Amino acid sequence: MKNRFLTISLWVVWITLAPFSGFAQDAPPKEEKKREANLVELNELDKTIKLDIRYARADNFVGRAVYTEARAFMQRPAAEAVVRVHKKLKKKGFGLVIFDGYRPWSVTKIFWDVTPEDKRKFVANPKTGSRHNRGCAVDLSLFDIKTGKLVEMPTDFDDFTDQASPTYDGATKIQKRNRELLRKMMETEGFTVNRNEWWHFDYKDWENYAIYDIAFSEVKAEK
Ligand SMILES: [Zn+2]
Repeated sequence: MKNRFLTISLWVVWITLAPFSGFAQDAPPKEEKKREANLVELNELDKTIKLDIRYARADNFVGRAVYTEARAFMQRPAAEAVVRVHKKLKKKGFGLVIFDGYRPWSVTKIFWDVTPEDKRKFVANPKTGSRHNRGCAVDLSLFDIKTGKLVEMPTDFDDFTDQASPTYDGATKIQKRNRELLRKMMETEGFTVNRNEWWHFDYKDWENYAIYDIAFSEVKAEK
């Protein structure tokens, strides 16, 4: 009898609290006083920026495509800053390869749900959202203009190990040189590298933007 009472009580607690926990969340968190989204496509600003949108293919950590379109968007000031980095790199013989930019909130939710607990420092909690959801984060690397290929970095994109840290010291000289070049050039335009991922950069104005769940196909083409 006592046990039954306890079971029923726990159910009541669960049903009451579920809407406030991760269980029932199906919409992004609401925030006041944020800017309207002004997402622009990186390739529309500069066609020579390369795209390698792994989330539109199955070769990503989820194991299936989570984007229906291989496109990369950011808020206009952030997108223009990325283009400036790309142009500066050209003079040094390199260019930018984009893995991901703006990411709809519902995709962040998928990432969280499929990631084991011990690896969750590499993905954003949908309760707070990600700077990718605000259109102010970008995952990227460098390509060599001569070969057109990705340069060597300490790890691949979305490598969920300590070697992905931008301060990991065990990489080769060339890998570290490339990682530092990317970081230095991004920092000149107001980006900060993530402490767990050498490929992830946040734009300085991210706090001004909300967490959006606009599908790529719904992004307004603004010139
Ligand atoms: Zn990222």
